[in-house]
Amino acid sequence: MSALLPPGIIGIIGGGQLGQMMIYRSKKLGFRFAVLDVKGSPAHSLADIVIEGSLKDKDAIEQLAKESDVLTYEIEHINTNALMDLHSKNCSIFPSPDVLHIIQDKLLQKELFIKKGLPCAPYFSDDINSIKKFPIVQKTRKEGYDGRGVKVLKSETDEILKGASIFEELIDIDKELAVMVSRSRDGSIAVFPVTEMAFNPDHNICDTVIAPARVSEKIAEDAREIAVSVVKALDGVGIFGVELFLDKKGNVLLNEVAPRPHNSGHYTMEACVTCQFEQHVRAVTGLPLGDTKLLRPAVMLNLLGQAGSNGKMVLHGYEEAMKIPGLSIHLYGKNDVKPFRKMGHFTVTADTIEEAVKKAEHIRSILKISGDNKS
Ligand code: ADP
Repeated sequence: MSALLPPGIIGIIGGGQLGQMMIYRSKKLGFRFAVLDVKGSPAHSLADIVIEGSLKDKDAIEQLAKESDVLTYEIEHINTNALMDLHSKNCSIFPSPDVLHIIQDKLLQKELFIKKGLPCAPYFSDDINSIKKFPIVQKTRKEGYDGRGVKVLKSETDEILKGASIFEELIDIDKELAVMVSRSRDGSIAVFPVTEMAFNPDHNICDTVIAPARVSEKIAEDAREIAVSVVKALDGVGIFGVELFLDKKGNVLLNEVAPRPHNSGHYTMEACVTCQFEQHVRAVTGLPLGDTKLLRPAVMLNLLGQAGSNGKMVLHGYEEAMKIPGLSIHLYGKNDVKPFRKMGHFTVTADTIEEAVKKAEHIRSILKISGDNKS
């Protein structure tokens, strides 16, 4: 299959911030973009063709396919059957609906990891009644994100989450790592630097990403090797966010894979030669992959709506933060603030990772988002 060249049209299912950043970082290549999502979604303001509808609506997905030369997505919770149907009619979709089908279901993901011999948290059973050893981690098989659908069960008397689930060993985590891996249509692979993710205990959302991860070269190599292996095992085409655990004994374990640009890859926009969004577009159009080299150490922090916030966005410390060298602010243009909603992020670069961490902590203390609490 020959590469899609500009001014070809890339159709994106999902118009959130990931789709929005994909467009503004890839329009410069000369491509055009069609976006399906509900009215007012962040990416719609930049799209060449706007389709309003649900991500689960088969007709809307078919309409998007008609408008586009290649289809991709920026979220996993979409209508896979509609994509499978289009795929069988030779519509170009990357990553393929088969990849999506596996990733949408944590049980299928786990089975693939085990089949391919990839190190991951031991998996006991999909039936709570057969579990004898606690504590254990329950994960609902489908529709989980940002830690929703994950619960540590301390004993058999703990209330379990509703829905079909898997149960896996509680890992004694030292650090959570992530690697962005891109794979093009011809199977060529380019790997971004290994990063460290820190989760805010208040809401379980990944709050901070540190690039490069402060780990030994051996651990970084293990992380890269596992991340590449899983993308190959999936036969994935596009960009993949691979989440890993480093346990206290120094073992790197696979947690899960996202078949799309990922929060842990936002830092690439300021800190790498090619960013994750352009890389995704290069991969799905069949173009050569870009250089993934890290130019400067960087820290990314999500800008979340503060607890108790709602209504229109109110910014605090914006102008003061803007004075800080190396800071790049991204606001996604979402209409309403909600507690812990991802409203934007910032990345700060510096000569050393220690300096970048220090700057990020300072910016975190001054730059905040609340709501006017009027609606
Ligand atoms: P989601 O798909 O909602 O992002 P994850 O599988 O990434 O869910 O889990 C969310 C978080 O829960 C992880 O980042 C990690 O902090 C914790 N977690 C998940 N699985 C385990 C495990 N087996 N042992 C310890 N902590 C875990």
